Amino acid sequence: MTLVAILSGAGISTDSGIPDYRGPNGVWRRDPEAEKLVTYDAYMSDPEIRRRSWRMRGDSPALRAEPNAGHRAVTELERSGTAVRVITQNVDGLHQLAGMPERKVLELHGTARSVVCTRCHARSAMPDALDRVAAGEDDPACLVCGGILKSATVMFGERLDPEVLGQALAIAKACEVFVAVGTTLQVHPAASLAGVAADHGARLVVVNAEPTPYDDRADEVVREPIGTSLPALLRGFHA
Ligand code: ZN
Repeated sequence: MTLVAILSGAGISTDSGIPDYRGPNGVWRRDPEAEKLVTYDAYMSDPEIRRRSWRMRGDSPALRAEPNAGHRAVTELERSGTAVRVITQNVDGLHQLAGMPERKVLELHGTARSVVCTRCHARSAMPDALDRVAAGEDDPACLVCGGILKSATVMFGERLDPEVLGQALAIAKACEVFVAVGTTLQVHPAASLAGVAADHGARLVVVNAEPTPYDDRADEVVREPIGTSLPALLRGFHA
């Protein structure tokens, strides 16, 4: 059976109203003060940074966003009976909201829908933490151990989860088709997965508005808007 790997980046979620925060030209990189809010050492050492981070999370569009046609096209491919694995650079959880089973989605940069304790690693739901912030706790502590809480996203200065990365690598090596969608393929190691897939014989398809460093190696490059081009492309792989 054909295994289709989907590597998704910020571009698949812009139709859902979520800006590109992390990319090379993303919000964080253009504003050093904003970048501090998502830099591990600054976050851990400065309570004011944490208070600003919590206020920002409360205002974030990510938790209110809805999946769009691109996310739904991936789910429809999976429901057609084709083996699909999603590797995403996004932290918005929209693939799962669109119906992809949790176990078939690898979140390279974690998720903004959970919080994690930096001391005991207990996880809980982001909305619960935001309710505490709204009720007046400007830097809510872990309810289990009192440690500092953070979003369950991978901050700058933190390493990616090696287990998630290992699974992503295995999928890149095993898949017959690798579709990189809405990613500039400039942030490693996520980007290099496209090269690994091509090295192992996968058909490489790049769906992105802008050129990427892997376009030369791609079997197919699609520049049309994701919301229309991805559903059309993925229908070709339905079981
Ligand atoms: Zn804790």
